Amino acid sequence: MRCPHEVLIAIRGLNTMLANLGSKRILVTGGAGFLGSHLCEALLRSGHHVICLDNLSTGLRRNIEHLTDTEHFSFIKHDIVTPIALEVDQIFNLACPASPPHYQADPIHTTKTSVLGSLNLLELARRRNARFLQASTSEVYGDPNVHPQVEGYWGNVNPFGPRACYDEGKRCAETLCFDYHQRHGVEVKIARIFNTYGPRMRPDDGRVVSNFIVQALKGDDITIYGDGSQTRSFCFVDDLIDGFLCLMASPASFTGPVNLGNPCEFAIGELAEQVIELTGSRSRIVNHPLPTDDPRQRCPNISLAMRELGWQPRVTLFEGLGRTIRHFDGLLANAASKLVEVA
Ligand code: NAD
Ligand code: UDP
Repeated sequence: MRCPHEVLIAIRGLNTMLANLGSKRILVTGGAGFLGSHLCEALLRSGHHVICLDNLSTGLRRNIEHLTDTEHFSFIKHDIVTPIALEVDQIFNLACPASPPHYQADPIHTTKTSVLGSLNLLELARRRNARFLQASTSEVYGDPNVHPQVEGYWGNVNPFGPRACYDEGKRCAETLCFDYHQRHGVEVKIARIFNTYGPRMRPDDGRVVSNFIVQALKGDDITIYGDGSQTRSFCFVDDLIDGFLCLMASPASFTGPVNLGNPCEFAIGELAEQVIELTGSRSRIVNHPLPTDDPRQRCPNISLAMRELGWQPRVTLFEGLGRTIRHFDGLLANAASKLVEVA
């Protein structure tokens, strides 16, 4: 393990190297995760220098392995709960576990990540005069009484239930963004992301799309929590990343919060049927108890994103599921062939 002094020296070296390159430097926290790794790729394609920072708690090195030889890409293993000094022009703050089983595994650290982590990064943005985009969530609406959800709705969140570490942490991060904007003039952008899925979700992520696909491909039981009538609106990852880029590039006066998601709403039971149909699986559907505080319904009103960013999702659930199924199929086949080799 490196001592803090060595880490500082390494970071100073990196700062000097990036400053010498003389172009825009973009920090992506949570960059080794599902959304973060796609964002790093998109930013590199646009010619930016990307610093991917991640504590690898739910992120995976293999998500960014193909980028590590790229000249304009660097990786720092770091936890945002501890402050860090870097030369950056823009910050995308995606660091936070997003899947309920993962963020509930260490709820105190989840709250620290959203609150202390965002505070540390907003301080960095203030010192460097960097633009800051916060990956917020539809969870700020809790179990919503207004449907579809508009940004002006303040939400219905249980402040001490099992989801609170995530929901309230993200709500506080939004508060911090606005206070840094109003007190210190930091240019902030808040994206309220609705359920997004696609390649590079972990097979053991625990969220519904990856669970159903992996279960269907393995022929295991498909686990519907509750009776499957609860709804979600699923956005394919490529659409979401386009939304991030549009938001970061929007005029300084536009802070959001803005909903980014696909407004086509599906019951979880319908999602299970689509996955079974697309995979040709013979899995059975089984019902498990609905988790505490599981929201009954979730659908974004995206009028604001359409008007201010000219953005709307393009990939249908049918197409996106097909692409995600192909990804998991390859991953499982690869894992199986490795087992055969070992045997
Ligand atoms: P993910 O778990 O794949 O990615 C999160 C990444 O953050 C991981 O790489 C993890 O290792 C890293 N991380 C977690 N805590 C950290 C810390 N303290 N310091 C440094 N790194 C840390 O999840 P994702 O789906 O890619 O989500 C990315 C962001 O988008 C999260 O902030 C999440 O809350 C937000 N979001 C995602 C969705 C979605 O449907 N995918 C919906 C709403 C909000
Ligand atoms: N869900 C389910 N089976 C699973 C995983 C999740 O029925 O194997 C349900 C979950 O209870 C919720 C919905 O699917 O109602 C979406 O869950 P996810 O964890 O993907 O996202 P979130 O609840 O945070 O929107």
